Amino acid sequence: MQKGTIGVTTENIFPVIKKFLYSDHEIFLRELVSNAVDATQKLRALASFGEFKGETGPLDVRVTVDKEAGTLTVSDRGIGMTAEDVDKYINQIAFSGAEEFLNKYKDTAASIIGHFGLGFYSAFMVAKKVVIESLSWHEGAEPVRWECDGSPEYSMGKGERAERGTDIVLYIDDESKEFLEQQRVDMLLRKYCRFLPVPVISGKEMEYKDGDWVATDRDLVVNNTEPQWMKKPADLTDEDYLKFYQELYPGQDEPLFWIHLNVDYPFNLTGILFFPKIKNNFDINRNRIQLYSNQVFVTDSVEGVVPEFMQLLQGVIDSPDIPLNVSRSYLQADTAVKKISGYITKKVASRLDELFKVDRADFEKKWDDIRIFIVYGMLTDEKFCDAAMKFMLLRDTEGRYFTLEEYKTLVEAEQTDSEGKIVYLYATNATEQYNYIKAANDKGYNVLLLDGQLDNHFVGLLERKLENTSLVRVDSDVVSNLIRKSDKKVADLTPVQRTILSQLFEVAPGKVEKTSFVVQFEAMSPNDLPIVLTQNEYMRRMKEMAAMQPGMSFYGELPDSYTLVVNTENPVIKDISAKADKALDATVRPLADKIEADNAAINAAREAAASEGLQGEAKTKVDELEKAVGEARKAQNEAIAAYAKGEPVVSQLIDLALLGNGLLKGEHLSDFIARSVELLK
Ligand code: ADP
Repeated sequence: MQKGTIGVTTENIFPVIKKFLYSDHEIFLRELVSNAVDATQKLRALASFGEFKGETGPLDVRVTVDKEAGTLTVSDRGIGMTAEDVDKYINQIAFSGAEEFLNKYKDTAASIIGHFGLGFYSAFMVAKKVVIESLSWHEGAEPVRWECDGSPEYSMGKGERAERGTDIVLYIDDESKEFLEQQRVDMLLRKYCRFLPVPVISGKEMEYKDGDWVATDRDLVVNNTEPQWMKKPADLTDEDYLKFYQELYPGQDEPLFWIHLNVDYPFNLTGILFFPKIKNNFDINRNRIQLYSNQVFVTDSVEGVVPEFMQLLQGVIDSPDIPLNVSRSYLQADTAVKKISGYITKKVASRLDELFKVDRADFEKKWDDIRIFIVYGMLTDEKFCDAAMKFMLLRDTEGRYFTLEEYKTLVEAEQTDSEGKIVYLYATNATEQYNYIKAANDKGYNVLLLDGQLDNHFVGLLERKLENTSLVRVDSDVVSNLIRKSDKKVADLTPVQRTILSQLFEVAPGKVEKTSFVVQFEAMSPNDLPIVLTQNEYMRRMKEMAAMQPGMSFYGELPDSYTLVVNTENPVIKDISAKADKALDATVRPLADKIEADNAAINAAREAAASEGLQGEAKTKVDELEKAVGEARKAQNEAIAAYAKGEPVVSQLIDLALLGNGLLKGEHLSDFIARSVELLK
């Protein structure tokens, strides 16, 4: 019996393995089954070259748990190992500078395994003792038994195995009893071994009989040895892809379409990516892309391997070129991985372009479902964005789809302002902004519907990408101001009329909390509404950004700012103005005249004093005049306010505008209803 110390330069590797790999204990099973599969495939290869001439027998891998004995065994009928092999591959895990390496990577547990070739030793994460029983394929080979209890000392001697192949027997330690549960083991096998190229057997198939589940005598094969992504796209039908999707994500809605990846230069990569129906909420935590290395499941955390927005996709990526057992930060820095990421992006973009070109109608049908993915991609990946400009679709409020180029052609003539800038109008809610959309449509403008989750960012992106184009929300101004034209009519009001009307309509503030209003006069069409409430585009965008980004709370805390636009051409407004003019002529006009005269005198005195500034008598005089102006203003306001009280039409109009924007609530709403009833009498 040979005794020895495992040749690793670190004093004792096992505590390190246990300590640093705690979160990933379960991967021991992946490592052992992968080794068994490798050994099996090597035998297959030897047989096919004619090197191995005997009977291969059933080439499968078996995982068996024996709760009573406290063991988990992975058995294969692969090439097996001679004593020399065990010595070379198992005992000599000498690694120059192992200690230094361990220190460097101690935070990134998984990296240790791959770099050391410690796959087999991961067994010690869950076992207090590991036994290898192996018989090599070489003619006349002696069976070998190797045993190690987790200290660096092992013993090795003659074994008992009669058949070619290897048993790895794990005596599961007390903290890891879960791995003696058939269900837990099956779950892990399904997770890591689902698509391994060699049948993996775990227990027996179950059958429902006489009201109970009973084991049959058929072996339960947990894996599909020929997953679709390993096949040639030409050999697969749509049905095959859909079936595979169901296999990966049981019970999911059908995917919209898929991309079969297949490269062998400059790196090896196969896979199938599916475009799922993404509902408005980002449901990316379930059903993620799975990363495989030669059909061995590695992870479904693909950060760094595929661009962030691609993580909305589903499916499988399989590449032996991805350094699999390393940490994520290591992954991200890896040049092969970067190339892969760039390749996938390009491939996805060109597939979308192809789908668009081949069947535009079908592409439009699927557009609403893939839109969020594409917008996300455009916002986060410059290259993808440039590619997507060709197949990106804009949807208007009537549900028609346009490419960026088509849309420009559509609106260019009507929607270019006096400075030559093209203005795209958009709505974020077709129902709430119906009035504004209608007003714009009536004027011959088209309105886009941008009601997606990322659309406020998307608006900015379009403005950056499209030349000489700005986007304006349809309710950000009255329709005649949305796109400024040179032939615009200005409101025709005398200063007194302006004062009276402003005062009359300034009762609106105070009705809505955390909202500020300014009154503005516009000469719109007589058919346009008498009052239109608009929301400043800039302030609204700032507030929206503030809601999503920390450090912008300054904007977030500002009140919502609305403009109460009074249409001076509307007959109702003309009427109100004329009536008020008449009623207030005797009180307001003399006051207005006085204010004007006093202000003129103040200005004259200021000009006379010029640079010396006001002094002495002149200063006293100006102070008095200013006081008089103040008083006259007050009297004027009081007169108008008193008049407004007896004019329910003004309040009614304001309330209608508020109501139209969903801003009239509670007491104010009930006042409005009472007043409306009163007016009907
Ligand atoms: P890696 O698989 O990364 O080389 P491992 O520690 O998992 O590292 O295995 C070391 C070596 O031991 C393998 O390369 C292989 O030569 C041998 N080995 C492990 N398991 C088996 C097995 N079941 N059958 C035959 N050889 C095996």
